[in-house]
Amino acid sequence: MLEYKIYINGEFRNSSDNSTMDAVNPYDRSVFAKLAKSTVEDTKAAVKAARDAFDSGVWSNKSREERSAVIKQIADKIKENSALLQELEIKESGSTYKKSKDDMFLTYRAASTFAKLALTDLNEELAISKPGVSKNLLVREPVGVVSAIIPWNFPLQMAMWKIAPALAAGCTIVLKPAPETSVSALELAKIIDSSELPEGVVNIITGDAEVGQEMVTNPMVDKVAFTGSTEVGKIIMQNAAATMKNVTLELGGKSAGIILDDADLELAVDGSAYAGYFHNGQCCVAGSRLIMTSKIYDEVVDRLRAKLAKMKIGNPMDKDTDIGPVISDKHQKRVLEYIEIGKKEGARLVYGGGVPKGFEQGCYVEPTLFADVDNNMRIAQEEIFGPVLAVIEAKDENDAIKIANATNFGLAGGVWSKDNERAMNIAAKLRAGTVWVNEWHLLNDFAPFGGYKQSGVGRELGLEGLKAYTEVKHIHVDEVLDRKKKFWYNVTVPQDLP
Ligand code: NAD
Repeated sequence: MLEYKIYINGEFRNSSDNSTMDAVNPYDRSVFAKLAKSTVEDTKAAVKAARDAFDSGVWSNKSREERSAVIKQIADKIKENSALLQELEIKESGSTYKKSKDDMFLTYRAASTFAKLALTDLNEELAISKPGVSKNLLVREPVGVVSAIIPWNFPLQMAMWKIAPALAAGCTIVLKPAPETSVSALELAKIIDSSELPEGVVNIITGDAEVGQEMVTNPMVDKVAFTGSTEVGKIIMQNAAATMKNVTLELGGKSAGIILDDADLELAVDGSAYAGYFHNGQCCVAGSRLIMTSKIYDEVVDRLRAKLAKMKIGNPMDKDTDIGPVISDKHQKRVLEYIEIGKKEGARLVYGGGVPKGFEQGCYVEPTLFADVDNNMRIAQEEIFGPVLAVIEAKDENDAIKIANATNFGLAGGVWSKDNERAMNIAAKLRAGTVWVNEWHLLNDFAPFGGYKQSGVGRELGLEGLKAYTEVKHIHVDEVLDRKKKFWYNVTVPQDLP
């Protein structure tokens, strides 16, 4: 049995009341690790460590080059340890070998990208400056202590999407992974501990909502960076309001792909299957709705059914497995309930719909395809976060855009077409933070990522993502030293008599 302690102020500790939690492998429901479970007292200690580290200037006062070098050191250590990290991520999350291999690279890449972005001078002189009149500087300073709360679907990537920009900006951080996937985060703590990062700059704790709530309300915290469900995002926004914290929220989605009549159907169907079923649909940007007109509808549904029949359900450790388990028993139950809801609502079940035969030992759900879905149905409006794709018929191109936008979410969208101009025209009309043309799931660490509407507030990644960890200060240096030439002369200050 593996054992893990929480990481506070450069020390690995048991929790203050010695409580522990289990790490469960969703492949067979076995317990493979025991972890210290943080208490509210531990959370306060972690925040205090981050506050002290920030206020001491031990990290924020380092030069951009020094910060960049340490972040790169962490990136390289992640690469060196990627085989172990990958194994742990597969065990705790049910991620397939193929998906988790990608995750390791993308975690390394996110750290490397922010090591580069850390070198950027974000300060600038504003155009309103006028020699002899005034100098106006826009200065970006680290926002301070960051509470970062993340979900279970891309455990290490999500951790690095928070840690790397926070460090690049000069902040200190307390990170809480999801309870389901805390093992890889605490393994990452060991990597960070072996780097030259000063003590207390990164702290990694465990636990659930109680711990998260303390992280969001603690007055010593300056910013909350949250990735998770829209439901919890709303609670966080409310709780952070009491102390008016800077907040970034990366939330859920119900993204739609539109296949135009002129699309290459082989590409569009493969791409839409990837959009909807990659990592069992447990992706915030999953393409969980698919829209097209009657002209290609039946052919697309037939091709999708054939594609799903070829997907290999298996042990996530096997290199050729396409579909592994979902994250937990609780989540399996939730996804299966949504499938029942879809049937009751009158959608046509084309493929899947249950637990695959021979995989009852784990938290498996068959890849499931619904056709003839009305966009008002719950399976088209609510985030299922499972391997369930809803196919919706549109009257024409404008109707497809209308349906795609008829959702509370606005995280991503996509268009499949051979005509780039036509596709770009649709992309411009989709109310979503990321839109792909003839692609899906492809994110670039140098490009901003985030949601419209109830999919979030703010952006991660790229320079936008780095700036999200800064406060903006305007410094005005007045160069007019003759008081009689000041704009306020004769306004409020009593003037000399002639
Ligand atoms: P979740 O919202 O249930 O939990 C996310 C995190 O919040 C966990 O660490 C959890 O312990 C913590 N938490 C729960 N209640 C809290 C509270 N009251 N105060 C503070 N923290 C609290 O989400 P999940 O089930 O772990 O992940 C799935 C969700 O994450 C999906 O909705 C998905 O769309 C979303 N997600 C979004 C993005 C994005 O970038 N937009 C990326 C990945 C996942």
